Amino acid sequence: MQEIERFKEAILKEYPRMSLEDRFSFRCHKNVPCFNHCCADVNIFLTPYDIIRLRRNLNLSSDEFLSRYTLAPFDKNLKFPVLMLKMNEDELKACPFVTAGGCGVYDDRPWACRMYPVGMASPKESDSRGDQDFYFILREDVCQGHLEKQDWSIREWITDQGIDEYNEMGKYFKELTLHDFFLNGGTLDLQKMEMFFMACYHLDRFRKFLFESTFFERFDIDEEEKARIKVDNVELMKFGTKWIRFALFGERTINMKPDRTKLKS
Ligand code: SF4
Ligand code: SF4
Repeated sequence: MQEIERFKEAILKEYPRMSLEDRFSFRCHKNVPCFNHCCADVNIFLTPYDIIRLRRNLNLSSDEFLSRYTLAPFDKNLKFPVLMLKMNEDELKACPFVTAGGCGVYDDRPWACRMYPVGMASPKESDSRGDQDFYFILREDVCQGHLEKQDWSIREWITDQGIDEYNEMGKYFKELTLHDFFLNGGTLDLQKMEMFFMACYHLDRFRKFLFESTFFERFDIDEEEKARIKVDNVELMKFGTKWIRFALFGERTINMKPDRTKLKS
């Protein structure tokens, strides 16, 4: 993970910052000599929305998906739990989803796979060059797509790769990971780390926690919202963001029922 932190620092300090209108040349297709070479031995972080899409594609419970396909690297410097796609445990370390014809989960491939070769950075942490998101180009040695003559603006690439929806859903996760709580040095104890993990990644368990406990007796949740989060994982993910902001960061994103508030005071 330290290597990844160093890479992030290099991006903020050294990489040319691109806007949505800046252009680059790239094309990936089945006849490039490096076809599929990038789908092995690669670090792919999974967002909560990536997991929702992949689970839907594979028709798996969150328990099955997390145990089969993810790694949760442990690092004492991590402020919150992160998940990575687990590569096969053979010499090649191929992605479990790669096939001879390309990505086997193409329609639901993760945000990071869609974005390549474009990277995006959110330099919210004290950065003298401003805190606006910016884009940059990643050039993996193996990748020959950069030699192909197809011209894109960053905006065109984002649209072509279906990234807008992922960015929209990613905003909920960013509300947590770039929260002032962390930026001001806040840390989570083990129990809070587990709550964060459950509400972001282990949605089946989170739903069980909500619906099989006294949660709805204690908190004032609109009946329509309750009905939505019962059946819809995206709605549950959004509610999870509110719950973490309430329970871990002390924001009033959820109201307690009046009698409970009285009991508390
Ligand atoms: S999810 Fe698909 S695109 Fe991403 S590494 Fe695996 S096979 Fe490649
Ligand atoms: S290495 Fe680059 S060009 Fe080759 S398959 Fe991967 S993304 Fe496409």
